Amino acid sequence: MTEKKRIALVAHDNCKADLIEWVKYNWQTLAAHDLTTTGTTGSLIEKAVAADGQKEVKLRKLKSGPLGGDQQLGALITEEKIDAIFFFWDPMHAQPHDVDVKALLRIGVLYNVITACNRATADLVISSPFFAGAYERRRPDFSAYLGRKII
Ligand code: PGA
Repeated sequence: MTEKKRIALVAHDNCKADLIEWVKYNWQTLAAHDLTTTGTTGSLIEKAVAADGQKEVKLRKLKSGPLGGDQQLGALITEEKIDAIFFFWDPMHAQPHDVDVKALLRIGVLYNVITACNRATADLVISSPFFAGAYERRRPDFSAYLGRKII
């Protein structure tokens, strides 16, 4: 993984204010990477960062999470196009797309993607020397699974 990382930013509605505050605080660091978001999270980040006086806010916005954005992100992970996810999911409210949320978290773990689901973890990840520098994220070995005997 090179110094420039492919980062996903996602927050459920009750957690959006928290993620946006975190993104604004860390914008100088984050802006050096390739950023992908779910739809609403991305629009709110663009607005918040622009209001802070940043002229160029480059984000790739997927569909809104409940409309398939989480699944799009999961697909990008399987294509090895995402290195890290900052996903502030809501532990207190049921989501209409709960199955998609679980699928995204599962596929992220499966592909050994860096996954931060709360502020404390996000703070530690972004301040890690590995975040600023190169980091060799181990690629999972699926050969035993792919070579399994079925019939
Ligand atoms: P949203 O999606 O950014 O479009 O609100 C968040 C989510 O995945 O639940």
